[in-house]
Amino acid sequence: MELVPARQLALNLMAEHGLSWNFRWDRAKKRAGQTNFTTRTITLSKHLTQLCTEEQVRHTILHEIAHALVGHGHGHGPVWQAKAKELGTSPRRCTGPDFPVADAPWQGTCSAGHVHARYRRPKRPLSCGRCSRTFSEKHLLTWNYVPSTKQTKKQAAEETEVPQDTLF
Ligand SMILES: [Zn+2]
Ligand SMILES: [Zn+2]
Repeated sequence: MELVPARQLALNLMAEHGLSWNFRWDRAKKRAGQTNFTTRTITLSKHLTQLCTEEQVRHTILHEIAHALVGHGHGHGPVWQAKAKELGTSPRRCTGPDFPVADAPWQGTCSAGHVHARYRRPKRPLSCGRCSRTFSEKHLLTWNYVPSTKQTKKQAAEETEVPQDTLF
């Protein structure tokens, strides 16, 4: 999903659920979103948002809104799960096998050149979610193994902090 509408979607959903928190982009590569209770900020991964479909981004945002609404200390326990359900998202949605990960070695490319990354080669045929919202033979992904350069410790550490810059 493009970043401009994704940010708008996040702001709309936060307003809809009465959450007057901040929104920021972060640089994480292995998790799509994060809730920061100290700064009252929901952040989404710039990398993963671009690899996700609108539906995946919506579920990620609702996942984080559920964390924000139930408060710190519930983790993914029953209180959070009940809230996530109430908001219409499932705790499993954002971590399923179809969820993209940046810097994963398997790169699937569609005929339009969109790249989707996975840690493992998918067992079933997948089509490009950016070209078609449903499975489409026309937009099948072709998989290539492209090992990424190893992350340094410094980069890994940077992932956990919220960057000061935002795109907008
Ligand atoms: Zn969570
Ligand atoms: Zn595509």
